[in-house]
Amino acid sequence: MRNLYFKKDSERGVNGTYNWLVDEVGELGDELRKGTDKEATEKEFADVIAWLVSLANLMEIDLERAALNKYNNKCPKCQQTPCRCPF
Ligand SMILES: [Zn+2]
Repeated sequence: MRNLYFKKDSERGVNGTYNWLVDEVGELGDELRKGTDKEATEKEFADVIAWLVSLANLMEIDLERAALNKYNNKCPKCQQTPCRCPF
């Protein structure tokens, strides 16, 4: 994603990239509510993660490392796998 879009993402900036991420989350929600087209839903998931990675790149955050640091095969709250936190 960095190779593909970092220059454009840098020009757009953090706020603009964040706004795109929010828009894409909304589109994913629309697809989930429709619930009829798995391929379209899959593409919306791809868009959400692409914009999330773009935003992380702009913030110089290694998203994979951040996710593994917090959720490395156990719940960060109860420390269990699977999570045993109450709903
Ligand atoms: Zn838990």
